[in-house]
Amino acid sequence: MIDLSEYTKELSKLFSSSGNILLISHINPDGDAIGSQLALYHFLKSRGSNVNMMTPNYLQEFLIWMDGADLINVFIKERKKCRKLIEEADLIVMLDFNQSSRLGLAEELVIASNAHKVVIDHHLDPGRFGDLIISEPLKCSTSELVHELVCGMNRVEFISRPYAEALYVGIITDTGNFEHGSYSSGTFRIVADLLDSGIDKQKILNLIYNNFSSDRVRLQGYALNKRMVVIPEFKTAYIFLTKEDLKEYNHVKGDTEGFVNLPLSIRGIFFSALFIEKDNFIKISFRSKGHFPSNEFASTYFSGGGHLNASGGEYHDTLDNTINYFLKVLKENVWRFEDKV
Ligand code: 5GP
Ligand code: MN
Repeated sequence: MIDLSEYTKELSKLFSSSGNILLISHINPDGDAIGSQLALYHFLKSRGSNVNMMTPNYLQEFLIWMDGADLINVFIKERKKCRKLIEEADLIVMLDFNQSSRLGLAEELVIASNAHKVVIDHHLDPGRFGDLIISEPLKCSTSELVHELVCGMNRVEFISRPYAEALYVGIITDTGNFEHGSYSSGTFRIVADLLDSGIDKQKILNLIYNNFSSDRVRLQGYALNKRMVVIPEFKTAYIFLTKEDLKEYNHVKGDTEGFVNLPLSIRGIFFSALFIEKDNFIKISFRSKGHFPSNEFASTYFSGGGHLNASGGEYHDTLDNTINYFLKVLKENVWRFEDKV
């Protein structure tokens, strides 16, 4: 068990002494980014803090039902208001990211702000963009880490329904509903408390996982059927989607979420990549099974990073060139895959 008591003490002091607190999650926020942000928001509100929330860009459809999500200010939509929030903040808490570039277009303003800055995160190798960096890569999610910090600040555990739902969303989305990631027995103890608090887990599962448009489901079928390449000798499979593909299926943000996991269900496949053609670059997601460090691969070759088994990056070239480059560097790394699951 990691001892968080020093962090808890310091955070508690900061929360008590800061007039304006601003919570910021990362660009393209996922369930854990929004889950940890909302959980901390509900906790701080219960303490009477003056707290605001911001994210660099839009929330995806499957997260907007969450209690408090409508209070999250979107930087690219409400620049003036967000600028004010950043400038007036005494304390900025950044959640679920380890590099300031994940602040997107808000990076410069946030970094230049005079506020005391705290990072709460579970990715490896955090950059030094905060005054206090609470980085625990052994936690399955930032939400789990937030909860342990919150419990440390309360003699009696704090669990309200909106808080419990936010935490549950963070945990299930970052572990793929307990399929992967670094969840532990501690995670299940927290989940047990959340279930005891009376959350409707079936409702949440339906809102998160059974809430797709028919276009999205059809795009997944197309991606698997027509755009997946399996390379057994490299123990790898990849999916690519062109701009035209996305247009054809009326793609909206978030529709390709989760596609990268699908090839890993193929026997003998240990590494998976998803290439998405953007306006002037290619966005790539990586997933691996076992010990292959997908984050190292992403940072070495694709200016990215992430976790051991889930990472991402980008490449500024055409889709064809990007895939050719991927195949070349993959060949150099194939020896690192395990033989067995
Ligand atoms: P996803 O494939 O779901 O977009 O991202 C998986 C994980 O990879 C994220 O949790 C994030 O930590 C990391 N990641 C994705 N894209 C990037 C990127 O461009 N740069 C960095 N540093 N990490 C990324
Ligand atoms: Mn996370």
